[in-house]
Amino acid sequence: MLADLHCHTRRCGHADGDVADYVAGALGAGLEVVGIADHLPFVDRVDPTLTMGAEELPGYVREVHEAAAGAPGDIEVLLGIEADFVPGTEGDVARLLDQQPFDYVLGSVHVLGDWLFDHPDHRDRYREVHPDEFWEEYLTTVRMAVETGLFDVLAHADLAKKFDVRPTRAPLDLYEGVAEAMARSGVAVEVNTSGLYKPVGEIYPERSLLERCRAHGVSMTLGSDAHSPAHVGRAFAEGVALVRSVGYREAVLFRERVPEAYQLPEPGEVGTVGG
Ligand code: ZN
Ligand code: ZN
Ligand code: FE
Ligand code: FE
Repeated sequence: MLADLHCHTRRCGHADGDVADYVAGALGAGLEVVGIADHLPFVDRVDPTLTMGAEELPGYVREVHEAAAGAPGDIEVLLGIEADFVPGTEGDVARLLDQQPFDYVLGSVHVLGDWLFDHPDHRDRYREVHPDEFWEEYLTTVRMAVETGLFDVLAHADLAKKFDVRPTRAPLDLYEGVAEAMARSGVAVEVNTSGLYKPVGEIYPERSLLERCRAHGVSMTLGSDAHSPAHVGRAFAEGVALVRSVGYREAVLFRERVPEAYQLPEPGEVGTVGG
């Protein structure tokens, strides 16, 4: 069995397809579970090219629930959300999350200060900061995100590598701190295959971080971060091969914020999945 817990919809303003299209995409990819996890509105800014508006959340929840009720019996549809961690907004984010019956919450760091560092339009800012300082700030913020207790899953844990900006030395002590915090807080690590299609050309997170998660007993999820229905389950064969190679034999999914483990397929069984 395989579950893709990270799919966006047109509501975010930078993805194609509605929920039903993603369910069809998941069926086409041979998945048994698809989780829709569109971007939660920021509580400190409004940008229709980044997230739906707060007033759209009830409609989003309804659309996912309707798709779940109407889906064929061989696929399960889960209601997720991808929420940004911005220090100082935790209370407002918690209130927003509590208003809806999410199955799970992905926690992400896409913003440092006022810098949307993973946005292609803001790449020139990398020239103003030393990679080591950037990575330290990013991983420190990630660790804070993990420790808020707001999130079930840490999405794309090393998103800082997206544009292939690397620290001068692998930040292994910071990775260790993040993995420890995840274990203590009961947060799962997401293996996000979308990095393969970004300038870095590599799954998030990199092996040395994933190994530390594994060593600390952190559970894991799979996500394509699809922004198009054709990308559901994309490169899951590579994702499964990576997690198996560091020792994972199970992944988790969530229903009503409760994790449930499932067996990962054998390497030979994944070849037909994804596209
Ligand atoms: Zn997005
Ligand atoms: Zn993200
Ligand atoms: Fe995403
Ligand atoms: Fe995202």
